Amino acid sequence: MIAIVTSTPSPILSASQLATLAELGEERTANVGDVLFRVGDTTYPFIAIIEGEVAILDAAGNEIVRHGASRFLGEMNLLTGQTVFLTAIVTAPLRYVALGRDALRSLLFEDGLLSELVLATFTARREALQRVQGIGVEIVGPHTSEPTMRMVEFARSNRLVFTWRDEAVEGVALPLVRLPGGAELQAPTTGQVMRALGIGLELAPREDVDLLIVGGGPAGLGAAVYGASEGLSTLVVESTALGGQAGSSRRIENYLGFPAGITGAELTGRAVAQARKFSARTATPYRALALEPGNGRHVVRLEDDREIAARAVVLATGAQYRRLPIADLADYEGLTVFFAAGPPEAQLCGASRVAVVGGGNSAGQAAVWLARGGAIVTLLHRRADLRETMSDYLIRELERYGIAVRPRSEVAALHGEGGRLDAVTLSTGERLPFSFLFLFLGAHPCTDWLEDAVARDRDGFLLTGPAAGAEHLLETDVPGVFAAGDVRSGSTKRCATAVGEGAMAVQFVHAHLGSHPAQGDQTSQGTNRRGVAMR
Ligand SMILES: Cc1cc2nc3c(=O)[nH]c(=O)nc-3n(C[C@H](O)[C@H](O)[C@H](O)COP(=O)(O)OP(=O)(O)OC[C@H]3O[C@@H](n4cnc5c(N)ncnc54)[C@H](O)[C@@H]3O)c2cc1C
Repeated sequence: MIAIVTSTPSPILSASQLATLAELGEERTANVGDVLFRVGDTTYPFIAIIEGEVAILDAAGNEIVRHGASRFLGEMNLLTGQTVFLTAIVTAPLRYVALGRDALRSLLFEDGLLSELVLATFTARREALQRVQGIGVEIVGPHTSEPTMRMVEFARSNRLVFTWRDEAVEGVALPLVRLPGGAELQAPTTGQVMRALGIGLELAPREDVDLLIVGGGPAGLGAAVYGASEGLSTLVVESTALGGQAGSSRRIENYLGFPAGITGAELTGRAVAQARKFSARTATPYRALALEPGNGRHVVRLEDDREIAARAVVLATGAQYRRLPIADLADYEGLTVFFAAGPPEAQLCGASRVAVVGGGNSAGQAAVWLARGGAIVTLLHRRADLRETMSDYLIRELERYGIAVRPRSEVAALHGEGGRLDAVTLSTGERLPFSFLFLFLGAHPCTDWLEDAVARDRDGFLLTGPAAGAEHLLETDVPGVFAAGDVRSGSTKRCATAVGEGAMAVQFVHAHLGSHPAQGDQTSQGTNRRGVAMR
């Protein structure tokens, strides 16, 4: 057995924390060679070691790390319910406390310090494991296969621990997805993968709720925390990954209350835990396909033939990255061209020439993150002065990390073979050698699915308040349908604003519900403020 990761975080539990855990859990013993949990198990308890030692192994038997007395075992999947993808084997006679998942969840809600320690450790372990090849879900399919690339992107944005094998497989529908424990799925939907992994709520064909929130980014999660904590039956549906754009941010430096900054994954992970604590339900991946406004209840149709009837709806679907108008861009995507910069990309790009394209804060953050990982980074942006679009503190960071900044630069062509980038040509004709390209080009609002159900501005963002002729500030032209965050016309595209708008929308939801008391399932037709018929 080979030790492949020795630096996975392993903090020490205090004597009083161990005592608290012992009170709530069950004290057990185990002998050398006993298996505490193994790859493919559906669940495992939180394990706090009183004395002894445990080794953590991958499916092939490679040792990842050892934990001794006062340490604890566990990773993010303990909270999400995901199928186990590591094995724990006793290497010295063991006395330990085992605490079930539900009991751990309740304890984390009550004990702030323990919650801090466990959540930060689980997040750091997840990040460390994402850098290790050969564990978790295995996605097999070549980079030329679109469904394969969609699955890789989905796994990446959900921060799953996964390995992608960029290889052709004969006679199977792509991608081939191997689950921990050995089961194989051919060309599954993302929902099938999530539910096969034990993650995510399966919705009934029709659900009735007070408040439906479409989109699980900061705005949607803000609305969920306030809606659920104020007694509304609240459901969040999310098409890709809870956390939204913010979830992919390496470090959010300007969110109130975190002077040292916080990773997007941690901030949104905590928000999800907080929403669930107040009994908000989150269902992912379910994409909203249509909104049918009604008088008493609005109906939102989802993928997989599901529909939700809701007395009020908050639309918080945010926005999506823009791509470069380059014909062969797709050949490079996911291999050498990326739309997010996380730990796997930073590892991939160390000591390579990297271009980050874009002038906004997200481009600046990615450039700094990659430079810190050892890449030689150039930031390419269209305008003359970066200060028009990027925060001052980030511009100073770019200088600090020696990142070259090239204004008035637009990428016109990519050069390389088989998805391996060698160089790019700028619109000026200048050719620059880069091995990787990161695109942060702004975003398009995720509102196409709404068609004309809700009024939008020229760019597709949702109109609210006076601009929509609505009664409430965040209400759209459809009474009882609200918009919050990046998807809203005129909103400030920032995390804190999105959270604030989500929270504020709930106040208007209450006002709306107060003037439209529940009267069973009303489906009679009416009109919205533009005179468009509502069922
Ligand atoms: C890399 C990066 C770094 C950033 N850094 C910072 C920062 O440091 N500070 C800061 O203040 N802001 C930062 N931002 C901006 C900030 O993340 C956004 O302003 C914020 O996430 C907007 O939140 P939102 O909930 O409105 O939308 P989003 O975060 O876009 O969330 C919308 C969600 O809706 C889902 N969705 C879309 N369509 C559907 C559908 N039809 N059905 C169901 N679900 C759907 C999407 O999958 C997504 O998860 C950053 C953004 C990025 C991309």
